[in-house]
Amino acid sequence: MRIGVNLWPFRMLIFRKPSQGIERPQMPADIVIVGGGPAGMACALRLSQLIDEHNPKNSDAQLSKENIYVLEKSREIGQHCLSGALLDPRSMCELLPGFENDAPLDAEVSKEAVYLLTEKGKLKFPITPPPLRDHGNYVVSLNRFVKWLGSKVEETGITIFTGFAGSELLLDGDRVSGVRTDDKGVDKQNQPKSNFEAGYDLQAKIVILAEGTRGSLTKQLIDRFALTRDRNPQTYGQGVKELWEVPSGRIAAGEVIYTMGWPLTSKEYGGAWIYGSPNNILSLGFVTGLDYPDPRLDPQRVLQEFKRHPFVAGLLEGGKMIRYGAKSLPYGGWWAIPPIAGNGWMILGDSAGLLNSRRLKGIHLAIKSGMLAAETAFEALKKNDFSAAALGDYQKRVESSWIKDELWKVRNFHQGFEHGFWRGMLHAGLQQFTGGRGVRDRYPSTPGYQRMKKLAVLPDDGGDEAHLLGDAKGDGKLTFDKLTDLYHSGTKHEEDQPAHLIIQDTDVCNQRCIKEFGSPCQHFCPANVYEMVDDATQPNGKRISLNPSNCVHCKTCDIHDPYQVITWVPPEGGGGPNYDGM
Ligand SMILES: Cc1cc2nc3c(=O)[nH]c(=O)nc-3n(C[C@H](O)[C@H](O)[C@H](O)COP(=O)(O)OP(=O)(O)OC[C@H]3O[C@@H](n4cnc5c(N)ncnc54)[C@H](O)[C@@H]3O)c2cc1C
Ligand code: SF4
Repeated sequence: MRIGVNLWPFRMLIFRKPSQGIERPQMPADIVIVGGGPAGMACALRLSQLIDEHNPKNSDAQLSKENIYVLEKSREIGQHCLSGALLDPRSMCELLPGFENDAPLDAEVSKEAVYLLTEKGKLKFPITPPPLRDHGNYVVSLNRFVKWLGSKVEETGITIFTGFAGSELLLDGDRVSGVRTDDKGVDKQNQPKSNFEAGYDLQAKIVILAEGTRGSLTKQLIDRFALTRDRNPQTYGQGVKELWEVPSGRIAAGEVIYTMGWPLTSKEYGGAWIYGSPNNILSLGFVTGLDYPDPRLDPQRVLQEFKRHPFVAGLLEGGKMIRYGAKSLPYGGWWAIPPIAGNGWMILGDSAGLLNSRRLKGIHLAIKSGMLAAETAFEALKKNDFSAAALGDYQKRVESSWIKDELWKVRNFHQGFEHGFWRGMLHAGLQQFTGGRGVRDRYPSTPGYQRMKKLAVLPDDGGDEAHLLGDAKGDGKLTFDKLTDLYHSGTKHEEDQPAHLIIQDTDVCNQRCIKEFGSPCQHFCPANVYEMVDDATQPNGKRISLNPSNCVHCKTCDIHDPYQVITWVPPEGGGGPNYDGM
């Protein structure tokens, strides 16, 4: 892994683009599932179950699994999966009854506590608020859990192509007709190398998008069909996580701690989790809402400040940080969900925004959405009808399932915090007693990047937020600078490839953003990909430079840059973090 050192400082930035004018291998498919996380794997498994039930009873109308494919951009299943994580078992009990006997579950939740932190003190909630009661849930590593789910899919005979990213949607008029996979063996100048392999065109009857948060093909689809025009804008948080090995006795396996307050001030939204796993492994992380006002805020630093709180430092003292990672998550809730089915396509899990932000849980919803999409796809295969009307059944299934019941009750939760922590708590209380309604049925929301303030209206010294701004220095024991943390993410990419962070117009970075917002990409990127380097030829003496190999695929830059000029596209398949055990 190359970290932080830009080997090409004086080169023009060259961005990844699909190779043009070449012949591509064509591959017919019944169903292509893009993304092998919980949603995609559950979808594949449920499809297999339905086909297995159908075939023995229908010898004259056999369905085949041979043309069902899962595309996963990571080299191995689960490598790009990062979560807290607590698993609500509801959907797994439906998908694989008795799964508890076989699945890699670290511990059943046995104890919860919620604290409000001040700079040095803590106030324990006398009772755990109902949404944060986790008895019956399991502490898991999502990485290990998805590996296990993937092994179940492989047993069914459905093919999982790992190391293949979906890079473009194929369209036939208004129908989604397939997926193009990434071109391999393209050099930094976008020229084919001797090992060049053109991406495949998978011509599919149904494309199922299960790419997780801010899916890149999902974004193409949403833009192409203006799917969010009457929805609330999606809003996001960024979760930064570390795994620690701690001395025994610090936290029991199955113990769950949530905190609110410090180090955030009342102007930012977010909170922390601490989960205990067997063998003295402790998972801790901080989710910061990507709607904070000060562009100098750095979510990786927020986690470092959190660890300096005496309560947290006490849990970690004498321990060792062993893994690091970061990922965004969609917070916007029910009103931000786009249409999830159309002509030839369906959207699942985080890509659709099916996450309960009040509980910080989306795995069970992703799995359930995968199951409902599989049931719809199965009916469509039987009828040989892949139209918007046929696949629209998935939308109806979601709306009459417990996914809607759960998300409807929290439909206004995150929007209630738009004006700060204390007003948010009031709204949350009111919503609790009105079935999620609060003061009106649909609270509006604003895209988080629009809530970033210009430097001109912010105090130079950072004011109350000073401790959250700029890079964490790190003491190397309890707290870490970004590059040290990044080293523990196992991130690796092919070095000789064009940048997969596509900046539409670098003049915006070099001439406007640097002055108006102080180049927030340097701060919100948890992997040090963006740097402003000295360049006397630029009007402000600096220009944007990229270290794409550091990218942990969190998607924050695609979401949060104030001018919306950055597009994340998949790098060559196989590259990215290695979230082993995360
Ligand atoms: C910090 C954090 C903590 C969380 N804690 C919890 C928790 O405790 N409990 C809980 O229930 N939920 C939690 N969540 C949410 C939960 O992780 C997600 O809701 C869930 O993982 C969504 O599943 P998914 O399958 O939709 O997406 P993902 O888990 O993101 O999986 C998507 C997969 O698609 C692949 N992919 C993406 N794009 C492409 C492409 N173009 N081509 C090929 N492959 C692609 C990715 O590599 C990945 O493997 C947390 C999330 C975060 C970020
Ligand atoms: S470059 Fe973008 S997607 Fe990659 S780690 Fe940085 S913010 Fe996340």
